[in-house]
Amino acid sequence: MNQTDYAQLDRDDPLAHKRDDFQLPPDIIYFDGNSLGALPKRVAEVVNKTTATQWGGDLIKSWNQHNWVSLPTSVGAKIAQLIGARADEVICCDSISVNLFKVICAAMSAVGSHDRRIILSTRDNFPTDLYMVQGVEAFLGQQRCELKLVDESELIDAIDDQTVAVLATEVNFRTGRRLDLAKLAEVAHSFNALVIADLAHSAGVMPIQLNQWQIDYAVGCTYKYLNAGPGAPAFVYVNQRHHAALKQPLQGWFGHSRPFDFNPDYQGAAGIQRMLVGTPPVISMQAVNAALDCFDGVSLEQVRAKSLQLTHAFQHGLACHDWASEFELISPPQAQHRGSQLSYAHPHAYQICQALIDRGVIADFRAPNYIRFGFAPLYNQFREIQVALEQLADIMESQSYLDPRWQQRLAVT
Ligand SMILES: *Cc1c(COP(=O)(O)O)cnc(C)c1O
Repeated sequence: MNQTDYAQLDRDDPLAHKRDDFQLPPDIIYFDGNSLGALPKRVAEVVNKTTATQWGGDLIKSWNQHNWVSLPTSVGAKIAQLIGARADEVICCDSISVNLFKVICAAMSAVGSHDRRIILSTRDNFPTDLYMVQGVEAFLGQQRCELKLVDESELIDAIDDQTVAVLATEVNFRTGRRLDLAKLAEVAHSFNALVIADLAHSAGVMPIQLNQWQIDYAVGCTYKYLNAGPGAPAFVYVNQRHHAALKQPLQGWFGHSRPFDFNPDYQGAAGIQRMLVGTPPVISMQAVNAALDCFDGVSLEQVRAKSLQLTHAFQHGLACHDWASEFELISPPQAQHRGSQLSYAHPHAYQICQALIDRGVIADFRAPNYIRFGFAPLYNQFREIQVALEQLADIMESQSYLDPRWQQRLAVT
């Protein structure tokens, strides 16, 4: 096999200059942008400005003067450009979990039929997605809502005339496998069922066409590939065709048509605004707003092209080593069928991950025995793959991962 020329790949990289947008510690190789994106320099500046001059200087006047009140809509419109949606179909608010509750209820209400009650999802979906459906199920009773779980490969065939909605995550958090959302929507709609897409591991790292694929509802977070910071507010998308009848039970005052009338009766605002609940977290929403500017002048096709190259380079670089057979690739072997991560099973995955982190290579561990490497095309470099693989080779050849230091599990993995 030819030796990969990592330096040449970096020289040829049209996104190489984007790394300057980010503040990264010099001694760290960061392959965890799929869990918490790196800090964009402009976010640090905006957060300082928001606290010092807006909150600190203009106080409550800022709601109007600095357009704090319209941030959920203006930030939502920016996110819409990255996910193939119309500006008025996306709003920034709450967490994925809370937004899931809203769209699950909205889908049940839109389908409206009492002889359908199944929310269909995959067994290995991200747990919060399943927990939220289980919560609705426990609250309303199984005669109104029931979660049905199948394997990812059986999802499309499991849709039938009992299905209210299919809740599907585009890129699986464990394996990185990518689902064909367009095909899913086509089949779901043929049964008059709806599609709720979770874009947590795809927004900002690959082209997404929610309108073209006719997705009904979608949720996603901003702290992974959108780099808006820990716990930054999420987003929710509702296809325009569901706006007129849109109903969700978290009827907070920010979703009211005239919140500052302080009327005792709820009257939902028009369209996507109705997904809002309470006061927006202004400081972190300003962070989302600034983080999205990292995508200025960048196309998601370019981002995807580099992402495919990064996972390909890592996969084939690892495979050259003698110890490679100890690692079982659980991600799809072909780059186009996965998101921007590689996951490997290894009996000592936790210890190997800790040993890598100790050497400044940050990957993460997912139970029971997976090590994940996430690749963020806006800031990861090909030479980082080279260095990370050298470190990994040293750990594997010396078996230093067996050090008793790595036996104790930390709370967050
Ligand atoms: C990261 C992630 C979440 C996180 O949900 P929060 O409510 O934002 O904590 C949800 N779903 C998927 C698929 C994820 O990858």
